[in-house]
Amino acid sequence: MVLGPGDHPTVYSPVHVAPGGARYLTHPGVVTLARPNVAAPHSAIGDATIEQFLSGFDDSLGFRSSLQDPVELPPAAALCKVAGQLCYMSFGPKRTTNAEAARYFANIRGSGHGSVLEHATFTFLCYGISRSVTHELVRHRAGFAFSQVSQRYVSAQTLRFVERPEFRETPELHRDFEARIDETARRHALLEQQLAELQLQGSEALAAQGRTARRKRIQQAARALLPNETEAPVVVTANVRAWRHFIEARANEHADVEIRMLAYAIYLCLRHMEPLLFGDYDETKLPDGTTAVSTATPKV
Ligand SMILES: Cc1cc2nc3c(=O)[nH]c(=O)nc-3n(C[C@H](O)[C@H](O)[C@H](O)COP(=O)(O)OP(=O)(O)OC[C@H]3O[C@@H](n4cnc5c(N)ncnc54)[C@H](O)[C@@H]3O)c2cc1C
Repeated sequence: MVLGPGDHPTVYSPVHVAPGGARYLTHPGVVTLARPNVAAPHSAIGDATIEQFLSGFDDSLGFRSSLQDPVELPPAAALCKVAGQLCYMSFGPKRTTNAEAARYFANIRGSGHGSVLEHATFTFLCYGISRSVTHELVRHRAGFAFSQVSQRYVSAQTLRFVERPEFRETPELHRDFEARIDETARRHALLEQQLAELQLQGSEALAAQGRTARRKRIQQAARALLPNETEAPVVVTANVRAWRHFIEARANEHADVEIRMLAYAIYLCLRHMEPLLFGDYDETKLPDGTTAVSTATPKV
């Protein structure tokens, strides 16, 4: 997996086309849609606003010194650090400076004080992942938000599939996969057509008021034949604590290879953006060519 350049990293996944025209992808694509925006990452956080707060304390405490910290932190690290510092009103000269942020976050992880990591959220658009993957992904509850493509709303026109690595690497299974998705796409379009005709003929089972509701009646029935290998794009937002837990559970040798590839792609993006918050992971190359990650301080 190769990380795209820029402040909002991506892992690109190209689209392939089967002989009969069905589109498919072979690995997860990840687009960083949103990351924290902190006004002044080099100082405590957003000088102008936090100065209003800090200036209300006795000058002898030296809280204003934290506004002049010369070391710039990535935004999420800056945000989580100031949240942690607030807990102990640790803004004076004896505070942990930004230059010591790596040690600061190692202490956070080591003490299990992970709630300060909940302030920073990252949003990714994930594609090239199958319905099997998203079924596992949406089991993660704490700190997560999901918006997933509605199979009740979208039509056959946007139907795509995902090929598992086991199929991709075996010529016979690869040929079977391409033939299967071409046939599935054909049968899905045909079923949509049959259902639309029945609806026009006045079928009670397919009756609904309004264009959208009528279309949903068709799509929700037609999707019954779609397999687990149907692509299911999803936008996922989670905070740093939740992303860490997800990565530990899913970029793990015991997880299914498909979700491991997704978790690793997301980990690559997060580590690139926030090395202080995701730099403690060790990578292990697995026999199947994928990578697992682990840390000495899981589930903070
Ligand atoms: C390798 C692997 C195999 C799996 N196999 C199966 C399987 O066979 N069948 C199956 O059903 N699932 C399976 N799962 C899914 C697993 O059981 C979890 O549902 C999923 O990993 C989400 O984990 P979580 O609940 O820790 O995460 P989150 O829902 O994100 O929760 C994070 C943490 O918050 C706390 N928490 C969240 N909700 C509650 C709550 N209601 N009460 C108390 N504490 C809470 C817990 O400490 C939890 O670990 C598997 C997962 C993995 C990684």
